[in-house]
Amino acid sequence: MKKIICIILAVILLSLCSCTPQEKSDFVIVASCYPVYIITQNLVKDIEGITLLNMTENHGGCLHDYSLTNEDMKKLADCDMFIINGAGMEPFLEDVASKIPGINIKDAFVGSTLIENNSHYWLSVDNVIEECKTIYTAIVAVLPAYADVMAVRYNDYVNNLYELKEKPNLEGQRFVSFHEGFDYLIADTGATIVKTIESDSGVEPGAKEIAEICDIINNENITAILVPTDYTGTAANTIQKETGIKIILLDPITSGNNELNSYINSMKQNYQNLGA
Ligand SMILES: [Zn+2]
Repeated sequence: MKKIICIILAVILLSLCSCTPQEKSDFVIVASCYPVYIITQNLVKDIEGITLLNMTENHGGCLHDYSLTNEDMKKLADCDMFIINGAGMEPFLEDVASKIPGINIKDAFVGSTLIENNSHYWLSVDNVIEECKTIYTAIVAVLPAYADVMAVRYNDYVNNLYELKEKPNLEGQRFVSFHEGFDYLIADTGATIVKTIESDSGVEPGAKEIAEICDIINNENITAILVPTDYTGTAANTIQKETGIKIILLDPITSGNNELNSYINSMKQNYQNLGA
């Protein structure tokens, strides 16, 4: 009887032991926002052993006023690398660093020339090509075994991004913009933004500012107003009715359909909407 009990105990102990040590789980990368996610996805999608998450997948828009959720903190506490847009886009970094000591934060911003400390630098393709290299280098530095497979993806993606190097020439055109990010798109075309309304802060211009904008449109030879595709306000339509100005919709690429080519397709569409 004693022998049987010993055997049963041994089996139970063995079955418990088989649960530990656990199998090595994936290297988990968390991207802070959509543009960082899509660029990184082009490098790591379907590579066995790497999992990529978009921390703010349910938040369409910039992260200027973003508050971390408990779910975000859990993702960050469990991740091996947190890749951020940088340049001031993430207001919660100090909070993250103090609550998760030792978190491995990689900044995708590599000193591309910022337009007046504007953190939406991904709306210039030259910056994204640099960003892609920074992210590739950061991942390969800790996962050298993936260097070859990721190098192929990196080259493919950068080659595709190069298709966007031919930008529309809009020299001499003047715009009023409803999104800070369009500074980068428009700077690449040689055109000028005369006035920016920061609609991504969620605050609409008041009656006085709308009147000022209408004055600018009526007197300063403005081609169009540039409105983000996710715009939910009413001021742009009010201004359009008052002045008859053309509205051009542009994608700020702060959210999307998660397809690998979504950044490239959205930028192509943006160029087309601008009249390329
Ligand atoms: Zn923004």
